[in-house]
Amino acid sequence: MLDLASLSELLSQPRKIVITTHHKPDGDAMGSSLGMYNYLIQQGHHAKVIAPTDYPEFLNWMPGNGEVIIFTENRDLSATLIADAEIIFCLDFNALSRINDMGPLVGESKAYKVIIDHHLEPEDFDDYRHWDINACAAAQLVYTFIVGQLQHPELINKDVATCLYTGIMTDSASFRLPNTTSEVHRIAAHLIDAGANNSRIHELIYSSSSENRLRFLGHCLANCLEILPEYNTAIMSVSKADIAKFDVNTGDTEGIVNYALSIASVHLAAFIVERSDKVKLSLRSKNEFPANEICKKYFQGGGHRNAAGGQSDESLEATVAKFKSILPEYKTLLLQ
Ligand code: 5GP
Ligand code: MN
Repeated sequence: MLDLASLSELLSQPRKIVITTHHKPDGDAMGSSLGMYNYLIQQGHHAKVIAPTDYPEFLNWMPGNGEVIIFTENRDLSATLIADAEIIFCLDFNALSRINDMGPLVGESKAYKVIIDHHLEPEDFDDYRHWDINACAAAQLVYTFIVGQLQHPELINKDVATCLYTGIMTDSASFRLPNTTSEVHRIAAHLIDAGANNSRIHELIYSSSSENRLRFLGHCLANCLEILPEYNTAIMSVSKADIAKFDVNTGDTEGIVNYALSIASVHLAAFIVERSDKVKLSLRSKNEFPANEICKKYFQGGGHRNAAGGQSDESLEATVAKFKSILPEYKTLLLQ
């Protein structure tokens, strides 16, 4: 691993830079990437954000969004940019498998690779690392990278601040999760002072549902929720037919799992959805329960202790049955 001080030196003249983030980017993935982008372009770098896939509409308003390249829609251009890059920033992910077919291209590129992330156990593909699992968001780490490492607080302009605030707000579940420290609030305060309109950002993210999305939420709550009181666990399972009926788009399922976790007695909530090619799981937990362990051990996934995800190649019914069959192993922890 190289010393971050030499990265500072590398960045002291204009470079060809690619910024990328994980599959199906969320608010932190796009907020941290566009925050970094808006910082780098002020320094004259030739920077491009390449997202491995599309992302929800409620994220498409951030400054710089119009310049984002979606890999699945622009494979040739993406491959050229990745091969020609001098530096690749890998934000909010810890393993090349999280960027799908882009993984081998990034792995083989001669560029210096920089991980800025808060997930456990990063894979060893990077040359530089600004990594802290205690950070509430990758956007928090982009902030400490710019302000602490690179000593450029004056370059936190309105655009940078808007994107980083969005990442911190979404990944901390609106400043609610236990990793929302006083330091996170101090950073948020600086971002607001630098021009982030916190109230407007909240509205753009959380009050921009389509009618379908709200009706789909109603359907999930009324018809798809199963409570297992003996395990303090809730499961919401959603079929392909439901997805088609409510015309569910990328991002429309985001956050629905939190409604299941909002029941006082529920310590673990699973949202299990049948997609076209696989079944996807989103787990959320309270307190010390390690949702990521279940995802890693049984569902080819991972994540954070209280927010994790994975997948299954089996049917929806078989996946739900598998999830239930795992609960006895965790019964003691779930009943704590
Ligand atoms: P979500 O439930 O919102 O899809 O994901 C929650 C968190 O779990 C993400 O921030 C990410 O860290 C992690 N995660 C989700 N899906 C996967 C996956 O398939 N593999 C891995 N390693 N992590 C995932
Ligand atoms: Mn994140």
